[in-house]
Amino acid sequence: MRQAIFIDKDGTLITDVPYNADLEKIRLEHAAGAALKRLHDAGYYLILVTNQAGIAHGKFPEGMLCGVFKRINQLLLEEGQVEIDRFYYCPHHPEAKLKKYRKPCDCRKPLPGMLQQAALENNIDLANSWMIGDILDDVEAGNRAGCHTILIDNGNETKWEPGAYRNPTLVANGLLTAAEMILHD
Ligand SMILES: [Mg+2]
Ligand SMILES: [Zn+2]
Repeated sequence: MRQAIFIDKDGTLITDVPYNADLEKIRLEHAAGAALKRLHDAGYYLILVTNQAGIAHGKFPEGMLCGVFKRINQLLLEEGQVEIDRFYYCPHHPEAKLKKYRKPCDCRKPLPGMLQQAALENNIDLANSWMIGDILDDVEAGNRAGCHTILIDNGNETKWEPGAYRNPTLVANGLLTAAEMILHD
């Protein structure tokens, strides 16, 4: 079985621009390429897991995400000679504007459905994998899936809503520190 790093997109891997699908506005977070390269070289499979309620709310069509993911990998290749191995997203929202996406689902973080599906499809050992994110909903999804978790404490979490699954294994100030903590150096 493979060990994976599950990584949140907005505010973790790339700078958060709400509901953005404009390729020109995509910027990697500091040292994202270097951090992911180190994790990849250590044998971790890299899986992006992102809530994309912008699709549910009609901000951009689902088909545009493919280009966003391609752009992210292009930037990662340029910066760190590394790529995300798999991309998973939840297009749903319970109060979606578009009926097609309006439903309670188990893939929207803080629920762990995306991680569980990715684990099944890619033979991932969840207990020896990590979820990295910038808010406690990411931490909860990772903990519910049985992974270790890292909160990137960069100011994006503002509510700090407590809960049984909302304590991260570790807290890091950025992606490179997170990678170093995972690799114990
Ligand atoms: Mg985020
Ligand atoms: Zn969903």
